[in-house]
Amino acid sequence: MGTRDLPSTEYDPSCAICKFATGAAGTVLYEDDHWAVGVLDGIEAPGWTVVALRRHAFGITGASVAEAETMGPLLRRVTEAIESATGAERVYIAAYGENHAHWHLLLIPRGADVPVEQRHSQIWGHRQSFVDPKRARQVGELIRDQMSSGTRV
Ligand SMILES: [Zn+2]
Repeated sequence: MGTRDLPSTEYDPSCAICKFATGAAGTVLYEDDHWAVGVLDGIEAPGWTVVALRRHAFGITGASVAEAETMGPLLRRVTEAIESATGAERVYIAAYGENHAHWHLLLIPRGADVPVEQRHSQIWGHRQSFVDPKRARQVGELIRDQMSSGTRV
């Protein structure tokens, strides 16, 4: 990919999410006109998937109408792919916006084996215990296959 045709106002070279969304860091599993979906460097946990605006804009209020309108159907598709690939009982969706001022959401599968005390918002604090780059790559390929299967919602 690369920075493609994004104007400089829509790409911040110091932004980790911009780097991800343009393919310069992490692993993009799926992309469309507005969104990039994949795995961030440093959070290579199986099924932990970031959904990011392709352009540098902050918050859902920074999204265009088209970006906002496509977010719901995309989140459904990605969630279905994660559920299929991991068998998770739940797929959490989190958007903090504290580390990167670039609208992105993290989808986190929560399996039946996750202890009760690590569920809900506590799972973020335990993220390093879920990191498994080899398994994350395998699950990522399953998610990529499902996202490219043409199944639209
Ligand atoms: Zn950015």
